[in-house]
Amino acid sequence: MYSPAEVPAGFRQYFFVNAGGPSRTIVNREIVLRKWQLVTLECGHKVLLAKYQKSAKLGCGFCGGLEPISNQQA
Ligand SMILES: [Zn+2]
Repeated sequence: MYSPAEVPAGFRQYFFVNAGGPSRTIVNREIVLRKWQLVTLECGHKVLLAKYQKSAKLGCGFCGGLEPISNQQA
């Protein structure tokens, strides 16, 4: 688990501290920087994950109505 401070600037709108929301299949993975991947889900949303996370499915926070950290007050 990464703290919000470690999330690279420019990708904070794709990062959720707590995974949640309905489970979606990952349809594309794009490595960003060294430690991160930007995955595209079957619902069309993109979520930033740590690179080591390899699961085929992910809960989509956008579909679940959660707020990425860029929308949260520190
Ligand atoms: Zn979604």
